[in-house]
Amino acid sequence: MKKIIITIDGFSSCGKSTLAKALAKELNYIFIDSGAMYRAVTLYFIENNISLDNSNAVKEALQNIHLAFQFNQEKGKSDMLLNNRNVEEAIRSMEISNKVSEVAAHPLVRDFAVAQQQQMGLEKGIVMDGRDIGTTVFPQAELKIFVTADPQIRTERRYKELIEKNPTITLEEVRKNLETRDHIDSTREFSPLRKANDAIELNNSHLTREEQLQWAIDMAHKILNS
Ligand code: C5P
Repeated sequence: MKKIIITIDGFSSCGKSTLAKALAKELNYIFIDSGAMYRAVTLYFIENNISLDNSNAVKEALQNIHLAFQFNQEKGKSDMLLNNRNVEEAIRSMEISNKVSEVAAHPLVRDFAVAQQQQMGLEKGIVMDGRDIGTTVFPQAELKIFVTADPQIRTERRYKELIEKNPTITLEEVRKNLETRDHIDSTREFSPLRKANDAIELNNSHLTREEQLQWAIDMAHKILNS
């Protein structure tokens, strides 16, 4: 059975991970949320007071970071492990969201994460979502999807998700965070967020999860049957 690499990139809170996870399940592929890796590195940097301006400190810190994914049967997806500690909850906090794009823009951090992501794709049969997966991590991927959605819709989606765990959060705070991250992600020097030339755009502002999934399954089958 032919196996391919599927990349799903796009702006923050476009539902990339939700789509990637469902698509991977459907195809019996591995799903990797690359953003979780940058979030885990950010958590380590905050906890250990690592300054991004100090290249030696960043280099040394990265040598002490071991990232792994551990499948969580209940959730049907993998949890992020940072040095064998389950940080899946901790990396979703607003504190991390407010810092992650700065950390992810650091060239040493990018090299660190990209090398591991490329290893994960060696045997194909993988769906990975992120910002630079179709451009930098797997430029050779057979199917590249670039997801977009109306910023107001993205803000409301993320707000609904966050308010359950953080009742004091405001819509404005969420909007600001998405705007800032999108700006840093798309203007950074090293592998900025952009649509790969051969990526197919999916605007999911007015699509249900099921509709998006069906669209992606059809795309994948077209390639698998060609
Ligand atoms: O996907 P998620 O929103 O969890 O990603 C968190 C942050 O990690 C993004 O805002 C971006 O700064 C960074 N990221 C990245 N490259 C990726 C995935 C995520 O720079 N491939």
